[in-house]
Amino acid sequence: MNKFISMEYSNVEYQELLHEVVRKIQTGSPLFKPAIFFIASNDKVHSISKVGYLPKTLVDALGYLEKDFTSCETIKYYQDCVQFISPVTDEVSEKELFLGAIVSQTDHMKDVQLLMEGIALGLSSKLNIGPAPFVEMHELLISVNYQIEFKKLVETFVNKLTERKYPHPFLVLEKKGEKFVPLFSSQIDLSEAETIELTKIKWKDERSFILDGHLLFKNDSKSYLIFPIKIESEMVSLFMFAFRSNEDAFRKKEELDAGLSTLIPLFEKGYTYEFAMKDEKRRNILMQVTKKFHSTMDIGELLGEIIEALNLANPGFRVHLLLSQEWKVKETLPIKPFKYGTDSSNRLAENAYVTGRILIEKAVKTNNMLLFAPLRGKQGVYGVMEIETQSNSYLSKQEIDFIEMLADTGGIALENAEMYQQSRKLINDLQLINETTHQLNLNLRLTDTINYMTHQIRESFGAEEVGFVIFQPNGESLVLEGSSAFFRDARTITLLDEFIRKMKKEKEAVFIGDTMLKEEIKLETYHSILAVPMIHSKELKGMAIAVHHQPYQFTFDHFKLLQSLIHHSTLALTNSMLHEELERLVITDHLTRLYSRNYLDECIQESLMKDLNGTFLLIDIDNFKKVNDTFGHQVGDDIIIQVANVLKRNIRDLDIAARWGGEELAIYLPKMSVDIGSRIAERILKAVEIETSPRVTVSIGVSTWNRNDKETNLQSLFKKADQGLYEAKESGKNRVVVNV
Ligand code: GH3
Ligand code: MG
Ligand code: MG
Repeated sequence: MNKFISMEYSNVEYQELLHEVVRKIQTGSPLFKPAIFFIASNDKVHSISKVGYLPKTLVDALGYLEKDFTSCETIKYYQDCVQFISPVTDEVSEKELFLGAIVSQTDHMKDVQLLMEGIALGLSSKLNIGPAPFVEMHELLISVNYQIEFKKLVETFVNKLTERKYPHPFLVLEKKGEKFVPLFSSQIDLSEAETIELTKIKWKDERSFILDGHLLFKNDSKSYLIFPIKIESEMVSLFMFAFRSNEDAFRKKEELDAGLSTLIPLFEKGYTYEFAMKDEKRRNILMQVTKKFHSTMDIGELLGEIIEALNLANPGFRVHLLLSQEWKVKETLPIKPFKYGTDSSNRLAENAYVTGRILIEKAVKTNNMLLFAPLRGKQGVYGVMEIETQSNSYLSKQEIDFIEMLADTGGIALENAEMYQQSRKLINDLQLINETTHQLNLNLRLTDTINYMTHQIRESFGAEEVGFVIFQPNGESLVLEGSSAFFRDARTITLLDEFIRKMKKEKEAVFIGDTMLKEEIKLETYHSILAVPMIHSKELKGMAIAVHHQPYQFTFDHFKLLQSLIHHSTLALTNSMLHEELERLVITDHLTRLYSRNYLDECIQESLMKDLNGTFLLIDIDNFKKVNDTFGHQVGDDIIIQVANVLKRNIRDLDIAARWGGEELAIYLPKMSVDIGSRIAERILKAVEIETSPRVTVSIGVSTWNRNDKETNLQSLFKKADQGLYEAKESGKNRVVVNV
């Protein structure tokens, strides 16, 4: 350390220069804090200046600097620091000098290096006395804080011309695609400046050239002295000074050539840097998005990332996504639904969607540019990205390529997500059909099977109510047990009348998004309806129906799936129905739908074996012959049915009501004492008298048994009841006689 302090400075001017730079940096650029700056020649350090409070690593670096400074390496790494060297030419003293900086290693090495070059250029221009430039490079560099960025440099340059009231109007244009677009101006209204077609600039490889205004712009009589900015011998920007005549321009040419001779290379450098930086920024952004693409399945997150990336690269962009399918993503994402062929105002978006190409146009009202980039996947286009730029902002090919790449990333992500959803759905569908057919093969009771299917359809389709309706040969319709509550309600079948008629006629599945839009089919307040016919051996057996209050609750996929599901289960269902019907025919009486005598016998036998007691009622309609004689057999039959129904209504589920024969009926009440049994008999007696029409009465004989009896069998039970009945008839009919 001490050696440096005592070091002899050969040129006081260098020290002042360095201090000026350091002062500027301390106020302007945070990147260099803390840092060591020095001016050196080949092997000697002339001047050192420090910025900020040096950490130990930088203090150590000072030691290294002293020991082995060599000018040949432009970048040199110490332990945790890095040293940059930029040559500075001092033409006056003909010395070869170097500006050096040592900083802690950061992520911003490129920026640091750039800034160093700017400072070195500034120092060089200050040290060199060239032809008197009209805007000095040194002051220009100081004004932009040594940041060699094209736009900043040019803007500062133009401002300086304006400040100094430079007499000749000046215009800078930048190349965008096949045009030069106005960028900055002095004494010219920029908003009125026109673009220039690339083809209009005829240029031989000269530093500057003169062109007539009328060759470039409409109704322009001026003459222009033009300085092209070139990158790899291609013009990227034009600096144009306007003069009243060709002669005026010619007169000024030499002076301006000299004045701009050092500045033009600086601008070119700035352009290259800015371009490289932008390119790198875009590359970084793309990498970020690609990383996200591979790390998430969340389509919303990825689309958000893409929009953010666009805004990051071009803060002026207004981005919207027009998606052909609805995605459940965050509401904050700027997504517009996009239905192809429905919105003629969006012709360009549709065009981009169909052709799969990027399309650009000027917005109608504003001066903004509208860009439509298709979101392409490998198999199709999944929407369009709509970008509105700020006015006058033209897009370069690089920017369009960048947008295209982002849009493609979005497209492929949408495609992946859609394929994933589709495959998940297919798997779910197959599982549903598989499970259901499996369940049907278990040979459950019909009611259990219907229960199961109702549950599945509710779960998988989000249906609120599910019903299975069977069309009986006699023309009646029957809602199967196991359907949901709305359909089991006795009133619903009447509501379905019209629907059933239509189904019987057309035998076709029905898919209604909103019943309110269609006249023919209404079902209370249900808006969404799916109905599928159950067809077996070309015969219509019935239909399955699913409903929801909300309109458009079911998708076309639901519709197809329900068809498939019903198609797969109809055979099993009809078999199961046939089977249970047969069973019922055997155990029930055809006329009354009460159990048959056979079945009653079986049940009593069973009860005698396992229960502790039971009561038996034998019921005979009074004076029935007279009913037949008076009203005919039809009415007689009907009376028997009426009485049978009275019995059904007055017993428990486990009790057995049966047709004993003719107009005689019987009830067996398992596990029931004679006291309660006779009360039930009385209740039935009353009910028959009140509820039949034409009115009839019955007589009832009651018998009972319990485990303590010595000999209890079927015959004795019947015989006692029969005796009771006989007594009832004898003692005046319409009464109950208990015979214990
Ligand atoms: P009581 O009350 O004393 O028994 O007089 P009753 O008229 O009922 O006399 P009875 O039991 O002898 O006659 C029963 C009649 O019921 C005989 C038969 O014509 C009639 N009958 C039996 N089965 C049926 C049937 O299924 N339908 C109709 N309509 N009549 C039947
Ligand atoms: Mg009788
Ligand atoms: Mg009778």
